Amino acid sequence: MKTESSEDVTRILVVGGGYVGMYTALRLQRKLKQELRQGTVEVIVVDPEPYMTYQPFLPEAAAGSISPRHVVVPLRRVLPQCKVVIGEVTAIDHEDRRATITTLAAEETGDGAIEVAYDELVLAPGSVSRALPVPGLADVGIGFKTVEEAIGLRNHVLGQLDIASSTRDPAVRDAALTFVFVGGGYAGVEALAELEDMARYAVRYYHNIQPEDMKWILVEATNRILPEVGPEMGRYAVRELRARNIDVRLETRLDSCEKHVAQLSDGSRFPTRTLVWTAGVKPHPILAATKLPLNGHGRLLCTPALQVDGVEHAWSAGDAAAVPDLTAEPPAGPDQPRALCAPNAQHAVRQSKVLAENLAAAVRGGPIVDYAHSYAGSVASLGLHKGVAHVYGRKLKGYPAWFMHRVYHLSRVPTFNRKARVLAEWTLAGLFKREIVSLGSLENPRAEFELAAGTGRHNEAS
Ligand SMILES: Cc1cc2nc3c(=O)[nH]c(=O)nc-3n(C[C@H](O)[C@H](O)[C@H](O)COP(=O)(O)OP(=O)(O)OC[C@H]3O[C@@H](n4cnc5c(N)ncnc54)[C@H](O)[C@@H]3O)c2cc1C
Repeated sequence: MKTESSEDVTRILVVGGGYVGMYTALRLQRKLKQELRQGTVEVIVVDPEPYMTYQPFLPEAAAGSISPRHVVVPLRRVLPQCKVVIGEVTAIDHEDRRATITTLAAEETGDGAIEVAYDELVLAPGSVSRALPVPGLADVGIGFKTVEEAIGLRNHVLGQLDIASSTRDPAVRDAALTFVFVGGGYAGVEALAELEDMARYAVRYYHNIQPEDMKWILVEATNRILPEVGPEMGRYAVRELRARNIDVRLETRLDSCEKHVAQLSDGSRFPTRTLVWTAGVKPHPILAATKLPLNGHGRLLCTPALQVDGVEHAWSAGDAAAVPDLTAEPPAGPDQPRALCAPNAQHAVRQSKVLAENLAAAVRGGPIVDYAHSYAGSVASLGLHKGVAHVYGRKLKGYPAWFMHRVYHLSRVPTFNRKARVLAEWTLAGLFKREIVSLGSLENPRAEFELAAGTGRHNEAS
């Protein structure tokens, strides 16, 4: 199936409905309101999921402080002037300006992919977890980039407490109570800190598990964690985590995790049923499947105006794009590379604004501008009422940093609707006890009916 672009209509194809995709489309809706109404411009947003994920809230979703529904923003609701297509862009032929999209329906019916012609391309597929060839990792590793992974991990951790509480086998109990996180960036540290906090609270309700029975281990290959908040605050975060009995191992790597045993480069071995891999991200593999120019790390080479370098009608930003950081010190010599904007939400959101303005100007024939934003710093939560921050030169720790983390992200999460819901949840959480139930059975909703119908696991056994 093919959908052709008409000569009278400028079709903008936005690949990815994450930070960059959603914010760019939101702004295009406003900037090109008239053209969209008249039908002279069409914006198509493609994403495999019908929602944008506010990733900084994933650790809190895993801890149960925010419901999964409120961590995501429904694309169709916020982008009524755009066409939202739920599918995956599998190929882009920019010379011919055509993209191939595999939709859910195409997968089910075997109808084949859709080919969409476009005039302007916004390529924003973000990044994927950077998995290394560690033996056993592909079999047992758990990622932490999506809301499904965050909720799955929450259910898994609570499920391990149930296993530990109900087994008589000390080896099973020990492995169930050992939680290994690899990677000390904000995803890994926040996920570990929030989940440890939740698990420590949850074990009050287990008659045979004490908080000190659990082992929480953070493995980081470099000599510091949370580089985003600077060295001093990073060292504070290590002290704070260690004071909570969390085993932070710096300059240590995961060598193998075969047969559910985490083998570390310092010689230690931990039998574990939980291995969370948050050791960095790499650009989305779809970029390599285009003929667009990439840098040595696989990010799209972009100009400061967020155009793909040397390519007309192609734009990019966010984790997928190598955008020169115009606010960084100029390179020392002519052979030195220019510093790039780091892959984070702060740049993604601000770049989207400039990208949409420039794209709207290109459609209307106006001037385009360069993107320049000096990094404001970062905030990170280390569990309920604990945090660390380094923003605009100010360093905060403990409760003030945690409070700042909440205020900052509440101001940033898209739509008033989501802000109100998240605030209501935080308020209610302050009044009532934490939710500590595992809904792991959600992953197999047909189990009960299969039992009733006589086709379930239990029936097979009997
Ligand atoms: C747990 C966690 C916590 C974080 N916390 C912070 C923080 O506190 N502060 C901060 O600044 N940054 C944070 N980040 C980083 C931040 O979320 C990313 O830098 C940001 O999401 C990048 O935006 P993006 O639009 O480039 O990618 P994304 O937001 O990841 O969006 C990419 C989108 O493209 C879609 N897509 C992928 N492939 C295709 C395809 N083939 N076809 C169509 N669509 C596709 C994906 O489904 C996704 O929706 C965090 C990240 C994680 C994982």
